[in-house]
This record gives sequence, C-alpha cells and structure tokens, in this order.
Amino acid sequence: MNPSTFDFVIIGAGSAGAVLANRLTANGEHSVCILEAGPEDKTPMIGIPGAFSYFMFSKKYNWNYDAKPIKDIRNGQPIFVPRGKTLGGSSSTNAMLYVRGQKEDYDLWESLGNPGWSFDNILPYFKKAETNSRGASDLHGDSGPLHVTDRPVHYEISNVFIKGAEQAGFPLTDDFNGHSQEGVGFYQCTIKGGQRCGVSRGYLKPARSRSNLTVITLAQVSRIIIEDGQASGVEYVEQGQTKVVLANKEVLLSGGSINSPQVLLLSGIGDSEHLAMHNIDCKHHLPGVGQNLREHVDACILVNSKKRDGFTSSIGGILGMVPDTLNYIFNKKGKLANSILEAGGFIKTSPELATPDVQLHMVPLLFDDNGRDLKLMRDHGYSCHVCVLRPESTGSVTLASNNPLDKPIIDFNFFSDSRDQKVLVDGLKQVRRIMATPAFDEYRGEEFHPGSAAQSDEDIFQGAKDRLGTVFHPVGTCKMGNDEQAVVDHQLKVHGIGKLRVIDASIMPTLISGNTNAPTIAIAEKAADMILNGS
Ligand SMILES: Cc1cc2nc3c(=O)[nH]c(=O)nc-3n(C[C@H](O)[C@H](O)[C@H](O)COP(=O)(O)OP(=O)(O)OC[C@H]3O[C@@H](n4cnc5c(N)ncnc54)[C@H](O)[C@@H]3O)c2cc1C
Repeated sequence: MNPSTFDFVIIGAGSAGAVLANRLTANGEHSVCILEAGPEDKTPMIGIPGAFSYFMFSKKYNWNYDAKPIKDIRNGQPIFVPRGKTLGGSSSTNAMLYVRGQKEDYDLWESLGNPGWSFDNILPYFKKAETNSRGASDLHGDSGPLHVTDRPVHYEISNVFIKGAEQAGFPLTDDFNGHSQEGVGFYQCTIKGGQRCGVSRGYLKPARSRSNLTVITLAQVSRIIIEDGQASGVEYVEQGQTKVVLANKEVLLSGGSINSPQVLLLSGIGDSEHLAMHNIDCKHHLPGVGQNLREHVDACILVNSKKRDGFTSSIGGILGMVPDTLNYIFNKKGKLANSILEAGGFIKTSPELATPDVQLHMVPLLFDDNGRDLKLMRDHGYSCHVCVLRPESTGSVTLASNNPLDKPIIDFNFFSDSRDQKVLVDGLKQVRRIMATPAFDEYRGEEFHPGSAAQSDEDIFQGAKDRLGTVFHPVGTCKMGNDEQAVVDHQLKVHGIGKLRVIDASIMPTLISGNTNAPTIAIAEKAADMILNGS
C-alpha cells in the first residue's frame, strides 16, 4: 500500500504540536497529519486539576524518564523526569500554572541572533492564545483557546505565605505576567469551569472535526526520512508495525525537549561522531543537537505544621477529601478544581539585581520527589520549592542506542557552573526569612529539611542536593540561533536540512524565567503564522 501523503506531518501532539495542528488546518487549504506516541486523552483524571500527582505514577500517560544519576545528588538516585505522553503532551499532565517569564528573556533571544523574537514580537502570540478571565488589556487576551483563570484559595497556608513574604519585605503582585514580574502572589491557572484547559482541550478538540486533519495516536516516530538533504516524510511504529507517512510541504518536529533531539539523532542529524558510535548514517553533521539542555534546578524547605488543616496522604487525610470529591463531582468546585500550587513568587536574592532570579512554589503539603514520596506526605506540613530561574549549567540529551524505543540519556550536569549553587542557596535563605516571620507562628513546627542544623552555605547546599529536583522545564536541546551549537534558525528551520522545522520548548536558546507551557504555546502560535505566511 502506498503511504499517505499530507502537506504537513507533525510529530507529537503536545503544547506545540496541538497548536500547529489547529492553526494549520483552520483555513482548509492544507492537509495535516499529527502523530502522537501516547494514547487518546480519555481518562477523566486529566480534566481534574487536583489530580496532578496521579500522572507521576502513570505508566500510560508519562514517558517516565530518569536523568543520569550524579554521585553527590539525591544520594546517587536519579532525578525523575516526567513528560506527558498523550494528546496535549505535558499540557495534559502539568500543574497548570500560567506564567510567561520576563520581557528580558525574549529580548535576550533576539540579541543572540534571532530577529523577530523580542518580547514585543512574541507578546501578540501570548495574547492570541489566551482568554484571561480578567478580560483583555495591553498584555492579555480575551478570545484565545487557552483559558486562564484566577482560582479561589483553599489552603490557609497559601495566605500565610503571602503575608509572611510581605512581612519579610517582598513586594506583592496580582499578576506575574504584568508589566513587572517581581513579587509574591497567587498563580493564575489554565483551568476552565473547574477543568484543566490544556492544548488538547483548547486547540486539538475543536479542530478534530476538520476533514483536513488526521490524528494518529499510539504512533511513535522512529525517524524522519531525509532524501537529498530534505525531509520527505516520517517512519513510525504503530502496534509493532513500521509505517510511513509523507509530507509534501514540511515535517514539523514537536516531540519536546527530550524526544525532539532523540528523533533528530535517530534520523542522522547530529554530531557525526555520536551518530557513528551508534551506527547511524550521518545525513547532516549538526553538533548542537541534544546539547544546551537547561532546566530549572529546584530544592525545597520542608516544615512540619502545628495546624492540621493541610492535605495529607494518611487515611484520615484521604477520608477528609470526601466532601471535596463530592463537591468536585457535582459542582466542579473545591480543592480538586484547583492546582495544588496556589501561591508563589518571583523574588530577587539580592536587592541590586535587575529582575528576580528565583521562583517560589509554595505547596500546602510535604511535597518531595515530584509528589511520589507518599510516606512523607502522611504528616501535616508545608514546603516551599525554590528554583534557579536562569541556570548557567547546561547538560545534554544523547542516544543510549539506535533503537528508537530505548530511552535517551538525560544528563542535567547540574552545578557545572557554580553560579547556580549560589543562587539556589541564597534563594533557600530568603525562604527561611519568609518562614521566620510572625505570619507563620501558628503553623511553624520543626523544619526537618534541610533542618535547623544546616546553617552554613555548605550545609544548606548539601541539603538542597540531598532532595534535589526540577520544575519539569527542560529546554534548549534544539536551540535557535546561528552559532555552532544552533540547531534551528530564527524561522525554526533545521540548519542544513530542507523542509524540516523543530517547533517546541527545545528551541529556546536560554531558559525563560518561569514555567514553560505558555511560552511553548506562544512559540507554536508564532511558528504557525510564519508557515502560513510562507516564511
Ligand atoms: C509534571 C509537569 C508539570 C508541569 N507544570 C507546568 C506548569 O504548571 N506550568 C507551565 O507553564 N509548565 C509546566 N510544565 C512544563 C510544560 O508543560 C512544558 O514545558 C510544555 O508542555 C512543553 O511542550 P512541548 O510541546 O515542548 O512538549 P510536550 O508538551 O511534552 O509534547 C511533546 C509530545 O510529543 C510526543 N512525542 C514525543 N516523542 C514522540 C515520538 N517519537 N513520536 C510521536 N510522538 C512523540 C509526546 O508524547 C508529547 O505528547 C510542566 C511539565 C510537567 C511534565
């Protein structure tokens, strides 16, 4: 049977791929096929905002990667790297916080040799994507597919955190995506009517009735077919069978920061020595593929609570959720209608900094190991996570073998640049200042991690490393630019290969100062415009 041919073949139906599928089929002029390795997003758990941690245990909807272990970090245990594996990708399993980063992040991208990527250039795409419940403004949209809402606060410790931060002298903000990012406050979330609003719901579902869109799930792309220096189609595995689809116009790779470089390498695009090591025919030597991996390295302070009003994973705690579960089932309201992450902030570890350098995620429970440490969560407590907003350390994603079904090697290489260590430790010290304010008096029990004995910078750093994690924001592995390590140009076209673009979080040359879902969606909105305008 001859392979089917489409104008565009999109690899991966995640935050970027789903946006492309919608925008490229809207005018009816192009045929599009989108291939997704994961299953349909049919489980009701995806819709429930409070069920975020469920996906940390899912084998079906999560790629469940582990990073390469580092001796001194987590006692040699690997850092877990969850990635969404279903329609909507990681936007179907993420924590739903709506954050864009700082204006300066995008202005930096432009100054690195990427015309058209300054904040002023990308702002229209943030607005185009967004329906903000507060209405339209110079910075916000009110008619996009992505619903962004204010959430009622359910955990008193979230209010206590804001009060404590104010008492510690930090400014308050009611919009992390306003003219200035700095401050502590409550996160807006991508939630509509008490249900998750990821890109599957926002972008893909409305487009699925279009006859020019074909969606194939459980289809893992094994390689892009390159002929005469151009991408002509892709090979994928569906139920153990290898199949091919062809692209008349372009192949658009949107597999995310771990899988996009893997697919390029498997296709013979990457460092020629690395490809030779795995007996892969080199189609184009592009040494930056899989390099420049950046991630928000994260550490936490865990404190036992004197009050018993938070969430715990004990039998009592779970039984205590019964009224909330009923409230959710019947009204789509209550704790389950919200992200567990209610409050947080973007603060400067030192007043002379121009912009915040750490982000805080306040969690109303004892949250560690990505929520997989259920034993820890049995006790009442709270935790504040601190991540380095613009890490200098870079790592890599490389192949373990030439088998597409083998997991790639993820090496975060954390703290290879010692500046990240200082920012992280200084951030943890600021959180301790917040937690020492009178606002916390009624709640403060024992700080059991890193523990009150950890006072020197060295001890705080060791404590951070013992429970080190990430905020699930890997980027940069197919970076945009025109230097030796760049993989795509400013139009997201792969250097040296025709008819092939990478469009997802992997193209970010540097990590933006915040959560990466909205920025990835904006990147895809901009890319769709470029494609439709013929650039
Ligand atoms: C647990 C978690 C919590 C997060 N919380 C937040 C948050 O609160 N706020 C925020 O802004 N960001 C958050 N993020 C980050 C954000 O969701 C991601 O940055 C964003 O979704 C990345 O989009 P992407 O398109 O690059 O990749 P993804 O959305 O991951 O999409 C990639 C898609 O490609 C598919 N795919 C991969 N390889 C192949 C292949 N070979 N063949 C076919 N299909 C393939 C995948 O299955 C997936 O569906 C979180 C992420 C995670 C994992």
